Amino acid sequence: MKIICIGRNYSEHARELNNAVPEDPIVFMKPPSALLVNNKPLYYPEFTESLHYEGEIVLQIGKNGRYVQHEFASNYISGIGFGIDFTARDLQQQCKTKGLPWEIAKAFDGSAPISDIVPVEELPGFPEIAFELHKNGSAVQSGNTKDMLFSFADIIVYVSRFFKLQMGDLIYTGTPAGVGPVQIGDKLEGFIRFPGGLRKMLECEIK
Ligand code: MG
Repeated sequence: MKIICIGRNYSEHARELNNAVPEDPIVFMKPPSALLVNNKPLYYPEFTESLHYEGEIVLQIGKNGRYVQHEFASNYISGIGFGIDFTARDLQQQCKTKGLPWEIAKAFDGSAPISDIVPVEELPGFPEIAFELHKNGSAVQSGNTKDMLFSFADIIVYVSRFFKLQMGDLIYTGTPAGVGPVQIGDKLEGFIRFPGGLRKMLECEIK
């Protein structure tokens, strides 16, 4: 399986990092060794002094496809989850300045916590999903997928031109404004709004 990630998909987040709003989705990947499941903690990596959280809605791909057409794109989504795209912001800034790839800043071990996946049918408002990331009990990010620059369908169409989508692949769809640093001892919690209210999907402590 592969983990595909979209960068700068919310204009307010692009602005907070002084990035231009992109014309096409910005795509990068993480290896399966980046996944952090079952609410496991993340051990603060020794190679960064600026570890940032990015709370994101994650799509799970339910069937294989290449060159997916827009009208059929939603058929490829089997479920959604809450994920964190952990970023070593200092290393990323160095990579960006030098025009180098981002992997060491984005794809390191444990950089992709993921919740359990829930079927799309549990979210009647799909593809509009409201979600929040809390740090030590306070909301630090509050987003809605209706504000994405590129919709779930746009992302699937674009990505499947380059990479065959395969059952079980995950797509991290980008983070809204409010990203920030974590320290050892911080506790992050990811929530998605369901018809019954906010549901805690994910927990990740920094150790
Ligand atoms: Mg991200």
